[in-house]
Amino acid sequence: MNANPIPFGRPWITDEEKKAVMDVLGRDVLTHGPESKAFEEDFAAFAGGGGHAVSVSSGMAALHLAYFQMGVGPGDEVIVPALTHVATVHAVEVVGATPVFVDCDPATGNISPEGIEAALTPRTKAIGLVHFVGIPCAMDRIMAVAEARGLKVVEDCAIAIGSRFKGKHVGLFGEAGCFSFYPVKQMTTGEGGMFITRHSETAERTRKARAFGVDRSFTERTFPGMYDVLSLGVNYRMSDIAAAIGRVQVRRLPEIAARRKAHFNQLKSALKAVPEVRVLDSQTPAAENSHYCLSAVLQGRAGDKRNEILIKMKDAGVGTSVYYPQPVPRMTYYKKKYGYDPKRFPQAEAVSDRSIALPVGPHLSAEDVGRVAETFIKIIREAA
Ligand SMILES: *Cc1c(COP(=O)(O)O)cnc(C)c1O
Repeated sequence: MNANPIPFGRPWITDEEKKAVMDVLGRDVLTHGPESKAFEEDFAAFAGGGGHAVSVSSGMAALHLAYFQMGVGPGDEVIVPALTHVATVHAVEVVGATPVFVDCDPATGNISPEGIEAALTPRTKAIGLVHFVGIPCAMDRIMAVAEARGLKVVEDCAIAIGSRFKGKHVGLFGEAGCFSFYPVKQMTTGEGGMFITRHSETAERTRKARAFGVDRSFTERTFPGMYDVLSLGVNYRMSDIAAAIGRVQVRRLPEIAARRKAHFNQLKSALKAVPEVRVLDSQTPAAENSHYCLSAVLQGRAGDKRNEILIKMKDAGVGTSVYYPQPVPRMTYYKKKYGYDPKRFPQAEAVSDRSIALPVGPHLSAEDVGRVAETFIKIIREAA
């Protein structure tokens, strides 16, 4: 074991976040108050494009609300990527709709417009895509397919904070963009998430659904404690403590993003020398990657030894991960419910079974990145 291990991810919290939390703790409102509202405004301003932001308790909460407020349910089909976090698909499943899985593009890991078109049926109501490890999907072509068929698009942007397509932030193309602030994402609030949309009625419905369907917040009440409920809802509110962390983090995002980008580029150029490695990345300058991690798909014999390589990296003190460990349709819950045909998702399987995600987070120094590359290349050469 190396004495000085490099973790795959580590939240980057400064004295500013700590002070912001202490300030909230000195006030009377700890949740769903002025800090959450200010964070929504800050995040909407960061994303730009005139979007509305609704703060929520997690990325999963944002995804669930996206389908819930849309009224998608039993009998409806939603096209989803096979290669994603299970939350992208669980959100469809929990509202009672049926996920229809599509394989990914081998160069980016993203769902392709052609794959979506091939999966359309008369029951298709929506497309739930993910911007894989920060690489934006081909949103112009996907929106053209969706608009031609009157389909709603839900963008899982959980690890694509700062990703843009043709200059527009991801999450602002379709009906909703869902972000996560879980500790290892591009920015954190501990637990937390954000729902963004260009559509003001969608934002309003989601705001209400997030807080029990209550018709007015306590600041809007004429008589203390008096309110009515016009629609069904849940409690997915964000606390003001989390929002205070988020406000500082979103302000620090340009610095965080610059570090991620520099680390990704350093690692990617070091890996050019290794024919056994194929790096997933944007294929066009229009798609601006936000560099969640560097996903390296191993070719040939190195690919067959992926798990062995993961262990060797760990022993050498370099944190790695796998995005994602299984195509979602191969996970037991989905396999049991819908069956699994191993021939249907060869590209998703290649990424799940033959890739390694390397760290590029702001917690690394340039020397750390050098060590990640050196260690990885040495271990691959031994395995190949
Ligand atoms: C992390 C993640 C989620 C879930 O976000 P939580 O905040 O943990 O609920 C959803 N989708 C993707 C792609 C993720 O990486």
